[in-house]
Amino acid sequence: MSLLDNLNPPQLAAVTLEPRHALVLAGAGSGKTRVLTTRMAWLIQTGQVSPHGLMAVTFTNKAAREMLTRMTSMLPINTRGMWIGTFHGLCNRMLRAHHRDAGLPQTFQILDTADQLSSIKRMLKGAGIDDEKFPPRQVQQFINGSKEEGLRHTDVEANDNFNRQLVELYGMYDAQCQREGVVDFSELLLRSYELLSRNAPIREHYQHRFRHILVDEFQDTNRLQYRWLKLLAGGGGAVFAVGDDDQSIYAFRGANVGNMAEFERDFAADQVIRLEQNYRSYGHILDAANMLIRNNSGRLGKNLWTDRGHGEPIRVYEAMSDQQEAQWVVEEIRSLVNDGRLRSQIAILYRSNAQSRVLEHALFSAQVPYKVYGGLRFFERQEIKHALAYLRLMENPHEDTAWMRVVNFPTRGIGARTLEQQADIARTHAISLYSAVGHVAGRGGNNLAQFASLVDRMRFETQNLPLHEIVEHVIEASGLIAHYQTEKEGTERIENLRELVNAAAAFASEDGYAADDAGALATTLPETGQVLPSPLAAFLSHAALEAGDNQASLGQDAVQLMTVHAAKGLEFEAVFISGMEEGLFPHENSILEPAGLEEERRLMYVAITRARERLYMSFSQTRMLHGQTRYHMRSRFLTEVPEESLKWLTPKMGLAKGMDTAPAWGRSSAWIDSESADGVSMGRSRGKDVHGYVGAAETYSSRRTAQAGVEVNGKTFMVGQSVAHPRFGEGVIVHLQGAGQDAQVQINFSGSGTKTLALGVAKLDPI
Ligand code: ATP
Ligand code: MG
Repeated sequence: MSLLDNLNPPQLAAVTLEPRHALVLAGAGSGKTRVLTTRMAWLIQTGQVSPHGLMAVTFTNKAAREMLTRMTSMLPINTRGMWIGTFHGLCNRMLRAHHRDAGLPQTFQILDTADQLSSIKRMLKGAGIDDEKFPPRQVQQFINGSKEEGLRHTDVEANDNFNRQLVELYGMYDAQCQREGVVDFSELLLRSYELLSRNAPIREHYQHRFRHILVDEFQDTNRLQYRWLKLLAGGGGAVFAVGDDDQSIYAFRGANVGNMAEFERDFAADQVIRLEQNYRSYGHILDAANMLIRNNSGRLGKNLWTDRGHGEPIRVYEAMSDQQEAQWVVEEIRSLVNDGRLRSQIAILYRSNAQSRVLEHALFSAQVPYKVYGGLRFFERQEIKHALAYLRLMENPHEDTAWMRVVNFPTRGIGARTLEQQADIARTHAISLYSAVGHVAGRGGNNLAQFASLVDRMRFETQNLPLHEIVEHVIEASGLIAHYQTEKEGTERIENLRELVNAAAAFASEDGYAADDAGALATTLPETGQVLPSPLAAFLSHAALEAGDNQASLGQDAVQLMTVHAAKGLEFEAVFISGMEEGLFPHENSILEPAGLEEERRLMYVAITRARERLYMSFSQTRMLHGQTRYHMRSRFLTEVPEESLKWLTPKMGLAKGMDTAPAWGRSSAWIDSESADGVSMGRSRGKDVHGYVGAAETYSSRRTAQAGVEVNGKTFMVGQSVAHPRFGEGVIVHLQGAGQDAQVQINFSGSGTKTLALGVAKLDPI
């Protein structure tokens, strides 16, 4: 079978385009990634380029791996040494190969976002700066924002005092990183960009090497990434960019959809290819996506169609609580699996990482294997970070962030005073904490010296050992295992540490790019003096950049959990979008701004279009978030998709928008007809006249309208009654359900819209 079979005419045209700049602008599921990977395979197969002569960039590690899999399934070649990866991954690789020219130590370490924050905090503390006036997170955002614009602290223009100080902190931070031999995520890109722009031989090498540069998810590139690409393409390489303006979801991180229009101009890309047939989803799913996104303004405009037929409607479920929502998701997943679906073809998506805890708990309790992407990743767990800190110190003892993390973990009697003394000395002499050890007097100094020699000894003892044995040695010799053995809940942590040994073994067997690549380059560029990164260094970069795929469930068929952001580019047979609530999705931070709301809508568009066959949307009346019970209305996005494409599994109650005051049960025919009532617990009731809900994971038991009053805390409430709430002001009860302390009430507040509250808890007074 030829590579080019199974492509429609515009796809075929895109795949076989002559080597020049081109933009494929097309909606979700229309085959952009397929076109991109097929083009890579086709270019190689037809001998137009060698595997080393092309570079492909995408957004997440998972997507990069998928790209590789798709390509090798078409063209079984050895992909070792090929430049396929994320922007961060490729930049890291370039900096490793040319660390000296980039002004970095061979063993430079990567700070992830959390490490970066602690490094900033340490800097502020050391300089005696008030962290209320300069909140570390704000400083972090300022630094990263500037770097993403390609600006060093000397390039940032500050027009007031506060900003001038931020700029100064930015400079201090960069100096600190340089001293410690560490780079943060945005630094990877900026440093690599500066390397290319300042060093002509290196730039020309890559410009000649990459004849084809292919970019997926182009709509989410930021200014700096765009400039980086432009620089690399400067020697005549052809850029093939694919993207979808409706899926631009990283504006908050500096992504710039404007790059697409700019690309057309800048690169004189006269080839703009559009794809409109969607091969991923059934009609109802696609209709929902199309209708939803029409609410956005300023789109480049396109519509998707499918010839797969309508398929099943989107199932909508309203839960009483987040736990119950999770319970329901688990039940549905069970029946999907019973029907023969693979768990790995089922995804649960949510807007914020914080939502995953409840879902994880429900899955865990029901013993459903699952895997979380993002969130608290394997490499971000406390015990793993500790072990990595030891490994990092072995590579580079001058890295203060790692030093501070484990100098007294497990405890070695090194107190805060000793550490302060050490930090003072390091600051005064502009040396690392490690170098300052010898200058600290007394018992504290002795303890510090012992720690320093522990690190040196571990380095010495593991020389020439294979990577996983190094890790194995370190988790023991550092005292971490012994420490967690004494901890009550240490078993899991010990298991994770052992898993780190496995991860190292797996990494070592897959690894190889660094060696191949630096070798290939050294023959062309002898003057750059390549030094191969050690396997340990490569592993540490991997740990900092990788999205935690070494979880225990690796290899097992597991349900996939991730944020909508992380799901970009992926597809699943069945998708659950949970937490469809105002304030959550759309996120509360974005509701007030039209631009923010449009970005949320694009995010929703991404979520919907991940589903191939079946889509679920759920929301909950109450939710525990950040330690508080919140009452949310259902998401406006539910009203922006066509009603015909939805099937309500629970009664559809009044809408947030233009809600009328008719009791909701009165309009319940929509659900009563559907099979969703399942006959479960029909006829069961509690309370006298009011019996709506019968609790967790069950379904509605009665369609009787709540006409009588409900008595709670000695007060009587009924539909139509006016009430006052200390925060929301005055309103009218439009719906009541449940009885006693469990009763729920929906109130139309004149000032703050409609809210659903628990009568037992809400401070309500009849007026
Ligand atoms: P997204 O915008 O979500 O990244 P995309 O445009 O990259 O989507 P792909 O992931 O490439 O879309 O394709 C979606 C699905 O449709 C994939 O399963 C792909 O294999 C399939 N597909 C694409 N084109 C065709 C085709 N011509 N015939 C059959 N299946 C196709
Ligand atoms: Mg894609």
